Amino acid sequence: QTIGQNLDHTAALHPGRDALVEAGTGRRWTYREFRADTDVLALGLLDAGVGKGDRVGILAPNTAEWTLLQYATAKIGAILVTINPSYRTHELRYVLRAAGISLLVAAREFKTSDYAGMIDSIRGDCPDLRRVVLLGSAGWRAVLAAGRAADPARLFAAQAGLSPDDPINIQYTSGTTGAPKGATLSHHNILNNGFSVGRICGYTHLDRVCIPVPFYHCFGMVMGNLACTSHGATMVIPGPGFDPVATLAAVAGERCTSLYGVPTMFIAELNHPGVGTFDLSALRTGIMAGAPCPVEVMKQVVSRMGMHEVTICYGMTETAPVATQTRVGDSLDQRVSTVGKVHPHLEIKLIDPGTGLTVPRGAPGELCTRGYSVMLGYWNQPDKTGEAIDAARWMHTGDLAVMDARGYVTITGRIKDMVIRGGENLYPREIEEFLHTHPDIVDAQVVGVPDDRYGEELCAWVKLRDGAEQMTAESLRAFATDKLAHYKIPRYLLVVDEFPMTVTGKVRKVEMREQSVRMLA
Ligand code: ATP
Ligand code: MG
Repeated sequence: QTIGQNLDHTAALHPGRDALVEAGTGRRWTYREFRADTDVLALGLLDAGVGKGDRVGILAPNTAEWTLLQYATAKIGAILVTINPSYRTHELRYVLRAAGISLLVAAREFKTSDYAGMIDSIRGDCPDLRRVVLLGSAGWRAVLAAGRAADPARLFAAQAGLSPDDPINIQYTSGTTGAPKGATLSHHNILNNGFSVGRICGYTHLDRVCIPVPFYHCFGMVMGNLACTSHGATMVIPGPGFDPVATLAAVAGERCTSLYGVPTMFIAELNHPGVGTFDLSALRTGIMAGAPCPVEVMKQVVSRMGMHEVTICYGMTETAPVATQTRVGDSLDQRVSTVGKVHPHLEIKLIDPGTGLTVPRGAPGELCTRGYSVMLGYWNQPDKTGEAIDAARWMHTGDLAVMDARGYVTITGRIKDMVIRGGENLYPREIEEFLHTHPDIVDAQVVGVPDDRYGEELCAWVKLRDGAEQMTAESLRAFATDKLAHYKIPRYLLVVDEFPMTVTGKVRKVEMREQSVRMLA
């Protein structure tokens, strides 16, 4: 199936149920309305000269229009390039040029970014960019008007030429470890992955899923939107950017049964003084993904937010995105210490990155995955694609993991984040878990900094709870001494209010390493 066929099928089964709700504005669409509006927009795009394989960029925070455009482009086989809303001018120019975007749909502005001004300033450098349509402008209304006036038969004709294996999406990776790469994904990749995620979460047409994670990333548009539309569930958008109060209010007001987030979002919600005032009683499940989840946070998500069936997912943009997920019946311990087991119809293996051979069960190795979800490749970067996907179609993730006897996987870090101190391999994740057990520490990150004697030394960045006493490297050492091997105790400590983050809510360790060196100098 293509994504368009799948949406039409759901709309035929559940025409009167909510497809999409913008909790902040109160705008809502039933499946009948959502299907009709995506048809109108698809016809409007055809009228604007957009066809199969053309790249349509979207530069906007989470709104209903974003979602409508996701399905409208898929319906005509255009390739949606999802642009990170926090990009600055030079990054925007890079993506517009690299992906050859011909039509750009953009919000006028968001937070501190004046998108309209940014686009004007670089238009001359982007020869492929034929048209820019600002959301809410006369240009946008004209596209919709043309779509309403168009002959619906044009859409049927356009759809006849589509295949589930066509590329329909280019997503740039988070850029956690370097320059973002444009993962090119097909209907087949993302529709099946969204369906599979929804299935494991037990979604039906009765579920209402609160999606505060960005749409421009797979977490929002696949695990969120496609998981919902392939099961007839409701997509609830709490607001354009992440805000803990708006998210909690949307869950309460829309009686959401499921809530998504990266760990830092759940931490912000749990630490908000008003968390107890919202009625979260409809919540049953949710997904925490994208970064390691501290044990304490998971316990509180279950006990204080009532998300008894919450699952953990592991994956990456290149695998559309989910490769492993915990299952509903798993123990709390399995949900905090592992990222679950492989998804149906996918394979995983752990290899020694040096030899390429599969490591014994229980030993650490690089996680590789193979199956329907592996991307078509990096857009226009065959060399990079060749480095990531081998001849037997295994995707090499760059993540280190171990697998237990039952097939449950634990991510132990990224190959690039591993700290080697005096010849000892240290996994920051293990030390971060430990720091979370300190009563004054609400969030912690550990990176390696260069050291003349040991090669690298550990530097911990911590956020302290309000009213906590001063913490120093010495007092931390005293706390850790009889609990952690001496070489795992961070030599340096930085108490901060914020970590450098990507817009997907991930900690940018590369930047932290650089900042640590400066701050410690
Ligand atoms: P880039 O590839 O540009 O450096 P990125 O890898 O962060 O950025 P994404 O594709 O958004 O870009 O993220 C995938 C990565 O996120 C995985 O490779 C893994 O390192 C990490 N990750 C995802 N889920 C989990 C999880 N549940 N636990 C631990 N790490 C996770
Ligand atoms: Mg990556």
